[in-house]
This record gives sequence, C-alpha cells and structure tokens, in this order.
Amino acid sequence: MTIKVAVNGYGTIGKRVADAVSKQDDMEIVGVTKTRPTYEAGMAIDKGYDLYCAIDENLKRFEDTGIPIKGTLSDLLGKCDVVVDCTPGKKGAEHLETYRKAGVKSIFQGGEKHGMIGMSFNALSNYSENLGVDHTRVVSCNTTGLTRTLYPIFDRIGIDKVYATMVRRGPDPNNSKKGPVNAIVPVLKVPSHHGPDLKTVIHGIDIDTMAVAVPTTLMHLHSIVVRLKRESSTEEVLSIWEETPRVRFVNGGEGIESTAQIMEMARDLLRERSDLNEIIVWKDGVHVVGDHLYYYQAIHQESDVVPENIDCIRAMFRITEDNMESIEKTNKALGIQ
Ligand code: NAD
Repeated sequence: MTIKVAVNGYGTIGKRVADAVSKQDDMEIVGVTKTRPTYEAGMAIDKGYDLYCAIDENLKRFEDTGIPIKGTLSDLLGKCDVVVDCTPGKKGAEHLETYRKAGVKSIFQGGEKHGMIGMSFNALSNYSENLGVDHTRVVSCNTTGLTRTLYPIFDRIGIDKVYATMVRRGPDPNNSKKGPVNAIVPVLKVPSHHGPDLKTVIHGIDIDTMAVAVPTTLMHLHSIVVRLKRESSTEEVLSIWEETPRVRFVNGGEGIESTAQIMEMARDLLRERSDLNEIIVWKDGVHVVGDHLYYYQAIHQESDVVPENIDCIRAMFRITEDNMESIEKTNKALGIQ
C-alpha cells in the first residue's frame, strides 16, 4: 500500500516534509501547493513535484509566468489520501472543513491549536492514540523537543514536576522581516504555551514553562529542571537517552559550546539543508543531584518535526501499530539517529 500524500503550503516545513515523504517506500508525494509563482514554486517543479495553486484567484498568475501548474488545491485533494497542512500558523484551521468535505485525512502543524481537532501527535509518546484518526496535529518544534527527552524520563524514572525555559530563536534564517534584532523579549504570560502543549502528548505530566525570544535564527535552546519521582544519577539519565531515538549528544568539552558549533556539525555531517532532525543534548551539561535533573538541549526548529509527520502518516493509516518500527524505518530512510 502506497499512501498518496499532498503538501499544502510548500514553505519551511512543507518542503522538508515533501522531501522526507519522497524518501519512504510506503508513501509518495502526489502534489504540493504554492500561493504564488515564487522561486520555490520553480524549485518544487525542478524536484519533480506536481505543483498546484493554493488560492484559486492566483491561478492566472502562475499561468502568466509559464510555470507548469496542474490545477488548484481542490484538484489536488481529489488525488491524495492525506494532506499535510504546512501553511502559516492559524491558517490551517481555515482549511479543516475543506479537507473534511474532500474526504481526505489531514495533518496540521504546531502553529494550530490542539483544541481545533482535540488530537495531537508525537511518535514517541502517543503514536497509539493516533492510530486510524482522520485529523491530527504534529506538535510544535519546541514541544517535540521537550517530548523527546522528557517522555523517556517520565516513563522510566517518573517525573514530579518540570520547570523549563525556552530560549527561542527570533525568525527562521530565511526570514528578513522579523526580529528581535537587538533585544531579548520575555513572554510575560506564565506558563508560556509550551507547557500546556506538552500535556496534549504526555498525559499527566506536570510542567511549567517560560520563554524568551533572542536575536538568533539558528536554533532554540531549552534550559530544563526536572524534579524526579526518586533519586537517580547522571549515568542513569544518560543511558536512557542513549537508547532514545532522535536524541543526539554533543560535548561542550569537545568544542561544541553553542548552537553555532551544532549547526557547523550539521554542515560537516553533510545533512540536507544542514538540517538536524534530532534533539541535541549537551552530555557534559546533564547533572543529576539527588532527585533533581538539570540539562540543556538545542532544537533545530526547521527540521525536528519532519520525521514526526512521516510517523504520523503511518499511524493514521495503521501501516504499523508499533511506533518504534515506524521511527526506525523513518530514521533509516532519512539517515538520522
Ligand atoms: P512558512 O511561512 O515558511 O511556510 C508556509 C507556506 O504556506 C508558505 O510557502 C506560504 O506561501 C504558504 N501559504 C500561505 N498561506 C497559504 C494558504 N492559504 N494556502 C496554502 N499555502 C499557504 O511557515 P512554516 O515555518 O513552514 O510554518 C508552517 C507551520 O509549521 C506553522 O503551523 C508553524 O507554526 C509550524 N512550524 C514551524 C516551524 C518553524 O520553525 N518554521 C517549526 C515547527 C512547526
């Protein structure tokens, strides 16, 4: 069975999801949408994707530029089993009804609210809840990062309470319109939305989060304190994460002291687009003192959710009911840990 996948919104996340789907042997891309005939529309065609116009009124603009266009979003929905909605945050909600009417399954991204459909996804923590569902949402890059490292600790040691601060990048690297450029901007609402969002995929976890935006585009950084259910050791925590997929260690002592060197590592690994789909934990920054765990992690916001979208498709179509089987298959196809 080959699942036919459409991507609505071929931007930062959409183009990465399309490429990741193309690398799997149980799903294929049947088309992607662009709102306007930009250079990315041309690049989608160069990659061999069928291009559709996301907004009916803009069809003529594509035709005028000579970019070969296969039709509109509704034409594409007639050809797919599932649409991965990668449109900007809060836009996706406007499309839910369209997907329902077209009778296709849909996956939304972290910019949409959980309440829109009442279902969210992370491959490690709640794959089984998403088996066979028609509509769901892959949680945001920050929530995915929190889930990857906290869920195995929650499961194996037990967690009383988490306090976490998200040090957030300003915009993505390709965005020249947003800041901050020379400021540190605290999110004054406490908890920030990340804590409540984590509870949609790890049921029963007690977490409070705060957030600040800083003038960088590379990655997010999390500073996390966990009160464990029992005393533990740094070695025990490290051995749990050693076995956790999509978590990768780096060492400050070996020269990886900041997100700048992490991104250099991604380039040195010759990762496509310099993406790092894994969550990066500083091994020498992990400390357990009695029943308290302290650590830092870095999140490559443009790519950590991409393998989650692949596993989400497998769960929705029950290609496998075993989350670890799907995670392993996706990781192998993408060449990640
Ligand atoms: P983006 O702006 O890079 O890409 C969005 C794409 O959708 C653009 O190509 C845009 O032209 C297109 N678009 C706009 N309106 C549309 C419409 N009505 N119909 C179809 N396409 C439309 O945004 P992004 O960063 O890829 O974010 C997409 C989603 O992923 C959001 O929910 C966001 O919160 C979430 N997300 C983003 C990141 C990140 O760091 N970039 C990380 C995780 C999750």
